[in-house]
Amino acid sequence: MDYEPVIGLEIHAQLLTASKMFCGCSAVFGAPPNAHVCPVCLGLPGALPVINRGAVSHAVRAALALGCTVHETSVFARKNYFYPDLPKGYQISQYEQPLATDGLVPADSDYWAPPYDVRIRRLHLEEDAGKLLHEGFADSARRSYVDLNRAGVPLVEIVTEPDFHGEGAARYAAALFAYLRELLVAISANDGNMEEGSLRCDANVSVRPVGSQRLGTKVEIKNLNSFRFLEDAIDFECRRQIDVLTSGERLIQETRLWNGSARRTVSMRSKEEAHDYRYFPEPDLPPLVVDAARVRTLQADLPDLPALRRRHLMTTHGLTREEVVTLTRVAPGLDVYFEETVKSGATARATKNWLLGAVRAKMNEEGYDVAQLRERLGPERLAGLIRLVEAGTINSSMAKDVFEKMFQSVRDAAEIVRAEGLAQIDDESRIDALIREVLANNGDAVAQYRRGRAATFGFLVGQVMKAASGKVNPARVSQLLKRALEAL
Ligand code: ADP
Ligand code: MG
Ligand code: ZN
Repeated sequence: MDYEPVIGLEIHAQLLTASKMFCGCSAVFGAPPNAHVCPVCLGLPGALPVINRGAVSHAVRAALALGCTVHETSVFARKNYFYPDLPKGYQISQYEQPLATDGLVPADSDYWAPPYDVRIRRLHLEEDAGKLLHEGFADSARRSYVDLNRAGVPLVEIVTEPDFHGEGAARYAAALFAYLRELLVAISANDGNMEEGSLRCDANVSVRPVGSQRLGTKVEIKNLNSFRFLEDAIDFECRRQIDVLTSGERLIQETRLWNGSARRTVSMRSKEEAHDYRYFPEPDLPPLVVDAARVRTLQADLPDLPALRRRHLMTTHGLTREEVVTLTRVAPGLDVYFEETVKSGATARATKNWLLGAVRAKMNEEGYDVAQLRERLGPERLAGLIRLVEAGTINSSMAKDVFEKMFQSVRDAAEIVRAEGLAQIDDESRIDALIREVLANNGDAVAQYRRGRAATFGFLVGQVMKAASGKVNPARVSQLLKRALEAL
């Protein structure tokens, strides 16, 4: 029997706020352990939570960017379980009445999107737990330590329907995760830092016989914090499930973890061991009300989303899909830089070539992001350089030189060309003079050319270029040389 994968994702993204979800503690990563704690996030008796308005705004914007319906009233709930990183004994989340539901990532809506719709089931607010430290201490072999700086940091959880299926499902799931990352970063809701755990994904994986509409038993793979891990874990898990089924055994519903070095998933707990969270509405918080006027304001505040930016770049500037992907993804903000360069008078084609060529190489070499690139070489200055090439004032190898020099000073391209005497010889009479000189000194070659040895022409062009120290356009030399030879 042939099986196909069926996959749904749950993505947790830390919201970019100064303070935690329900208290005034700093939410910033990297402080010494337990530096950011207070009675509220420690769950001390009598401490009262207060909803972080900025976190709500971020979550609403994320919901709108995903086409969700934002509900005027949503309700925080207690999700009860015991774990040493959870001092309160419960996590405040949203359960029966989430902030937003029913979003959609339409089929083929962007270069990464699957050829089928991916529905967003829900998007809700919650708080993060703390972190157990199992390594790095002298007695780590015997003890674990708890850092509660992350306890209470605001998260948004985004849950998809199990819509990824068939051929390429793992790849599309990873692409959607990448898209969500880009989207959340674009609206400044998340910092996109997966290594620090700001963004992580749980993959729910099942398989079913091709043609069947019923969902199979699912396995949840927890805490995947890279696109590669997500794709590899899903691929491995699908193969494992198909092996279990084809050998006539039954799958059990369980939670598994991805072991990146062994390249396999390993069981963490089965459904029987799963928590019964005993959700109930959080008695210390009122329902969260986000009225229509606030939703409208937040909607108006959204920047152009990446998919729209890409379509705009393709249609307005005649770029290909791959070029646009590189401009919008490889370095965030490079697409804006591109458009500003074009606005400053460079052609789209040349600008694209510079950005994807020399500029990108320079950024890689120096480790610059777009802001750092701007500090050293703003779009107007790059446009100035490109215009000199397009006007034929300098050729492309000189331009590379000038480009490098532009990083060493604030001078613009024209100044550098003038100061270094790099401008090409453009004056026809000066080029003609050089040609006459070369023809006079290369009588043999001229004779050969006239006997029909066409290859000699290239040699003569080379001699003229040399006489001009390369500061002349070869096409122009060819044209004038041909005229000179014909006139002999
Ligand atoms: P749970 O109650 O275990 O959290 P849910 O039904 O709420 O399960 O779904 C959680 C996630 O699992 C969602 O992303 C959903 O799309 C996905 N999911 C549910 N059932 C399946 C299945 N059989 N195969 C793959 N994914 C599934
Ligand atoms: Mg779940
Ligand atoms: Zn606190």
